[in-house]
Amino acid sequence: MPGLSGHDPSLVGVILTHPHLDHFGLARKVQAGVPFFVGKAAQRILREAAFFTGTGLTIEPAGHLRHREAFTLGPFTITPYLIDHSAFDSYCILVEAEEQRLLYSGDLRAHGRKPGTFHELLHDPPANVDVLIIEGTNIRPGVDGTEHAVTETDVENACVETFKATPGMVLDLFSPQNIDRLVTMYRAAIRSDRDLVLDLYAAAVASATGRETIPQAHWDRVRVYLPNSQRTRVIESGEFHRTDAVRPRRIFPEELREKAGKLVMIFRASMAREMEQVGCLEGAHAVWSMWPGYLDELSGQRLKSFLDRLGIGMTIRHASGHAAIPDLQRLVAALAPGKVVPIHSSAGDRFHEFVPGVEQHADGEWWNVA
Ligand SMILES: [Zn+2]
Repeated sequence: MPGLSGHDPSLVGVILTHPHLDHFGLARKVQAGVPFFVGKAAQRILREAAFFTGTGLTIEPAGHLRHREAFTLGPFTITPYLIDHSAFDSYCILVEAEEQRLLYSGDLRAHGRKPGTFHELLHDPPANVDVLIIEGTNIRPGVDGTEHAVTETDVENACVETFKATPGMVLDLFSPQNIDRLVTMYRAAIRSDRDLVLDLYAAAVASATGRETIPQAHWDRVRVYLPNSQRTRVIESGEFHRTDAVRPRRIFPEELREKAGKLVMIFRASMAREMEQVGCLEGAHAVWSMWPGYLDELSGQRLKSFLDRLGIGMTIRHASGHAAIPDLQRLVAALAPGKVVPIHSSAGDRFHEFVPGVEQHADGEWWNVA
């Protein structure tokens, strides 16, 4: 793509719709001087991910995306629309130039914790969209289009059942960047009379949202455990403000053992041996709250054999970050675009079965909006 890896003035800017790796992974390859635009909270979350996982991004954007606040970028007018997705601070992007209008859906759904954003887009959509570039993660081989989404509320209710049925600690496996899921897990923990134990990464991401309505380390029923790997990272970086910020809320091995049956703990495979040594896993149960496909990968296999060895069962409680087909259909109907171009799907050739006006294009192909 001209301007991405070599200088080309036709690349006037890069817009990051949300902080998921498959949407910003090439950002580091972009030539210096090309302006970036991203949500303010998304920028902070990317910075935390860079510190804790090495797969984030540290950028100084030229501007921030704000809901329905248009700005000019070269010959284009850009309008972001805040939207429900499993990443926090996600946007659809309307691009206008020379009387043509293109709406890129970004990643979206209608069944998370901000469904109002989706409904607002349905009821007050941008008018006269010529092209809708739309994600269709859930348009896959084998679906028939009637599949409805499991919602975050469904996950919450199911988790309450699982948490209540668990005598020991709940080991909760989900991405700390999935803020909707963090809220779900907090609510389910409270409803089953347990405290939620974050790790430092999850506490940092929650803080990065800048929202007091998101469970924060200083909340009464939230505690923070510092896994060895994160403690080492803080010591090596010298960023001790990170541990200072959560000091009064920290939980240590003794309390983990004492209160195991009263805790839901954010867990990852890298903490397995450490928790085993702490000795807090008697009667524990694991809740897998990510895409189940990860369990087939090597890290997932290792996790399963660790849990099997200790006789710890696992239940999958998950909702997709992406819209169900009936919701995609509602969105296409509300926008009534001139044409629909599929993206972000393993079955781009099946879109025409579900929505009208599909025009499929191959990766790397240049095509005209008009
Ligand atoms: Zn995404």
